[in-house]
Amino acid sequence: MTTTEVFLHVDGTDRPGADGASFAVVDPFSGETVATVAEATPGDVDDAVAAARRAYDDQRWRGQAPRDRARVLNRAAGLLAARIDDLAELETRQIGRPLREMRAQLRRLPEWLEYFGAVAQTAEGTVPDFGHGHLNVVRRVPLGVAGLITPWNHPLLITMKKLSVALAAGNSVVLKPSELAPVVPGMLVTLLEEAGVPAGVVDVVHGFGRTTGRALSEHRGLAKVDVTGGTETGRAIAAHAGRSLIPVTAELGGKAPVIVFDDVDLDVAVSGSLFAAFVATGQTCVQGSRLLVAEAVHDRFVAALVARTDALRLGDPMQAGTQVGPLVSEAQRDKTARAVERAVEQGATVLAGGAVPTAPELSRGWFYPPTILGGVTSSMDIWTEEVFGPVTLVRSFTDDADAVRLANDAQFGLAASVWTADTARALRVSQQLEIGIVWVNDHHRIDPSSPWGGFKDSGLGSENGLDAFHAYTRAQSVVVNTQPPGPDWFGTTSDL
Ligand code: NAD
Repeated sequence: MTTTEVFLHVDGTDRPGADGASFAVVDPFSGETVATVAEATPGDVDDAVAAARRAYDDQRWRGQAPRDRARVLNRAAGLLAARIDDLAELETRQIGRPLREMRAQLRRLPEWLEYFGAVAQTAEGTVPDFGHGHLNVVRRVPLGVAGLITPWNHPLLITMKKLSVALAAGNSVVLKPSELAPVVPGMLVTLLEEAGVPAGVVDVVHGFGRTTGRALSEHRGLAKVDVTGGTETGRAIAAHAGRSLIPVTAELGGKAPVIVFDDVDLDVAVSGSLFAAFVATGQTCVQGSRLLVAEAVHDRFVAALVARTDALRLGDPMQAGTQVGPLVSEAQRDKTARAVERAVEQGATVLAGGAVPTAPELSRGWFYPPTILGGVTSSMDIWTEEVFGPVTLVRSFTDDADAVRLANDAQFGLAASVWTADTARALRVSQQLEIGIVWVNDHHRIDPSSPWGGFKDSGLGSENGLDAFHAYTRAQSVVVNTQPPGPDWFGTTSDL
């Protein structure tokens, strides 16, 4: 297997870190080294921010008309579409997510470049009539240099969500991808430059959260920080940004409820719940990790769900027949196993999965089986804690109000799905959820035009849609007096 060398990218040039340090990215299935990655020193972070700032100040990107920026982003979308298969394989090697899922995700990504290119052309400015003889030219201007900090679970998708809007709005950026999955996000930058984004506009530093991530997020040269990661990471970054008075977008953890009403086709709800809980081996922020099921159908639902869960095929994520891959790392596998053990100690029952597999074909790779827990109560840790692995729980509810109460009983408020044949009920329930993204009879759906952001401890602000564009720009008012000269304020004693 080939090993890729990944460098920092500063001012359009690949380079090693100043002290020559590097770290390895390891395939979580085979244990092979996928890449060696240059690790940035704080000095390298300074260089990257300075390069991005120079690119911002000399207007090489933000000075281009939105139409011209959009043309470049559309060209990048075309280049990306042509390389999806290769990039999907590398993504699978980095994080172990089955290739068939990775391809499906990556095929959508050119849409982000196309969408935000179009938004930038329509959202540039307005000229409201101020009244009293004044015209107010309101421009949406970029912020400056944005620091983008991304997690490992959707390496290219999350990088794309942030980069597309930041660039369309005319900002420069410094990207720090996750230390577990930096290979493909780094390649996106080269592709953008190939499409015509000027050198220096996008700079990349690699390294760990506590060092490189911190050096970037606390850098005085930033005008914005945009982070996706755990809630504690978001809290630390937002606290510092508050002191620097710069805006933050933070996409953080979740504990998404899946609410199954008794009027729904149970096969559809079971298949939807499997999708919600176990896609990406459960390692998504919007994972359906609390299945709330109407009492009347609970037992039938659980029987069908357990049968389908037991039949899921674990294995080599590169193989077409594999439905569930390994977890990203030994630490993530152990964290998952510990969460299940603790739930059992606290009184939960394992209905499916629940132990590290012993089959010889799964002896390599950080596997943990799709797991369903029953008998969960609100006092157990598993009810509120984000596991970030293939573990979900099933709990019954009595009526709509009880479903809403249970769904809202979490410090997180990122996502939920509601499964019902009754549209009015779906809307009524959705409106009562303190949750940022609610799907009806579906889960995990995402679109560049659809705001994506968590309530409560799940985040601050939104990715995607016009909200994200506004969060990467600020309004500048230029107020023009269209009247002949008015009274001389200090030349008269009469009323003004
Ligand atoms: P993480 O918080 O460990 O790391 C995320 C990124 O932040 C990494 O690049 C890391 O190096 C960096 N980082 C960590 N500590 C830092 C610090 N103190 N200062 C600056 N940077 C720091 O998260 P992870 O394990 O990579 O990702 C999993 C988490 O991300 C889960 O909690 C998941 O719910 C969340 N997530 C949220 C969304 C969303 O849209 N809300 C999407 C995907 C993942």
